[in-house]
Amino acid sequence: MARFSGVDYLHIDSQFTEQELLVRQTARQFVEDRVIPVVRDAYRDGVFPKHLIPELGSLGFLGANLEGYGCAGLNNVEYGLVMQELERGDSGLRSFASVQGALVMYPIYTYGSEEQKQRWLPKLQSGEAIGCFGLTEPGFGSNPAGMLTKARQDGDSWILNGEKTWITNGSVAHVAVVWARAEEGIRGFLVEKGTPGFSASDLHGKLSMRASVTSSLSFADCRVPASNMLPCGKGLKAPLGCLTQARFGIGWGVLGAAMDCYETARQYTLARKQFEGKPIASHQLVQEKLAWMITEITKAQLLALHAGRLKDQGKIEAAHISMLKRNNVAMALECARLSRDLLGANGIMDEYPIMRHMCNLETVKTYEGTDHIHTLVIGERVTGIAAYK
Ligand SMILES: Cc1cc2nc3c(=O)[nH]c(=O)nc-3n(C[C@H](O)[C@H](O)[C@H](O)COP(=O)(O)OP(=O)(O)OC[C@H]3O[C@@H](n4cnc5c(N)ncnc54)[C@H](O)[C@@H]3O)c2cc1C
Repeated sequence: MARFSGVDYLHIDSQFTEQELLVRQTARQFVEDRVIPVVRDAYRDGVFPKHLIPELGSLGFLGANLEGYGCAGLNNVEYGLVMQELERGDSGLRSFASVQGALVMYPIYTYGSEEQKQRWLPKLQSGEAIGCFGLTEPGFGSNPAGMLTKARQDGDSWILNGEKTWITNGSVAHVAVVWARAEEGIRGFLVEKGTPGFSASDLHGKLSMRASVTSSLSFADCRVPASNMLPCGKGLKAPLGCLTQARFGIGWGVLGAAMDCYETARQYTLARKQFEGKPIASHQLVQEKLAWMITEITKAQLLALHAGRLKDQGKIEAAHISMLKRNNVAMALECARLSRDLLGANGIMDEYPIMRHMCNLETVKTYEGTDHIHTLVIGERVTGIAAYK
C-alpha cells in the first residue's frame, strides 16, 4: 500500500492553519514510522506497544491541549488532528492518549490541588507515569450514578471499598483516578499503584481493542491520604466533565480509522481485477460504497472541525460533543464494514488494517457513552425531555 497521505475531498485542508497542518504531519509521520510497523503484531499478541509511550510524551501528544506543567498547549483542532492520526494507527493507541490526557491529566488539572498537579502532571505528560480512570463498575456502565464504590473519611484518610471494571490501562497505571460515593456525593481520588487494599487484574479474551490493556480494579479497605482526594470536583458532573473531553477526542480519532479503511478499499478496488480484466472499482455497486464513504467522511470532518473551533471559542456544549461522537463513530464503523466487504476474502486478513479497525470501533461505539446514550442526550437537548429512565 502507498504511504497514507490523508483524505481531503472538499479541500478542508484550506481551513487549517500552517501550525495545525504541521502538528498533523508530525503525528502522521510518527504513526507511519513507529506505529504501523508494529501494530499488527501487537494486536495479534494482545499487547499494548509500551515502548511508544515515551515517544508520545516527547512529541507532546499526552495532555496535548492542556497548558503548563510541561504540556504542549495545542489548540483543540491540533489536538483533534493528533487523535485522528493516532487512531489511523490503532484505536488502542488513541485510547491510551485519550485516557492519559482527557481522563487522568484533565481531572487532575481541573479538579486537583496545586500539589497534585505538580506531582503528577509533568510525569503523566512525559509518559514517565501512566494513569487510568475508574468510573465503570460491574453493575453500572451507562448509568454511573448508581455506583456502589464507597469512600468513607477516617481522620486524615479516606477508605475506599468497591470494584471498577473495563478500565483502560488499569494494571499498568501508576495512578488511578477513582470515582466513589462519599457521604457528601461522588468524589474523585488518586490511588497509587501498590496502595494496600488496591489490586488490578487484566480482562482476557477481548476480540476488540486487543492492542490496549483493559483491567478490573478492586478496593478492599484501601486507605488513601486525604490529600489524594480531588478537592475541586464534586458530584457526577466531575467525571462527566472528563468524559466530555475524551469524547471530543474520539469524535476526531475515528476519522483516522475511517480514512484508513476508505483509502485501503479505494486502492484495493483499483488494483483488484475481476470479470474481463476490469478493476472492481469500475463497477457501479463498488463505486456506490466508495461514494458513500467519502461523502460521510467529509461530513464528519466538517463536524469535527466546527466542534474544534467552537471548543476553542469556549462555546461547545456536552450535547454538541454527543452529536460528534455518535455520528462519527457510527460513520467510521460503517466505513470499516463496507471496506471489509470490498476487499472480499482479503478483508478478513490482518495484512490489511480494516478488520482490526472494525473490531476496535465496536468498543468505541460502546465506551464513553454508548450510541444509544448519546442519542438520548441529543433527544433531551432538542425536546427538553430526559428519556434515560
Ligand atoms: C475496551 C473498553 C475500555 C473501556 N475503558 C474504560 C475506562 O478506561 N474507564 C471506565 O470507567 N470505563 C471504561 N469502559 C467502560 C465503558 O464506558 C462501558 O462499557 C460503557 O459505559 C457501557 O456500559 P456497559 O458495558 O455496562 O453497558 P450497559 O450500560 O449495560 O448497556 C448495554 C446496552 O444497553 C443500552 N442501554 C443502557 N441504558 C439504556 C437506556 N437508558 N436507553 C437505551 N439503551 C440503553 C446501551 O446503549 C447498550 O446498548 C471501557 C469499555 C471497553 C469495552
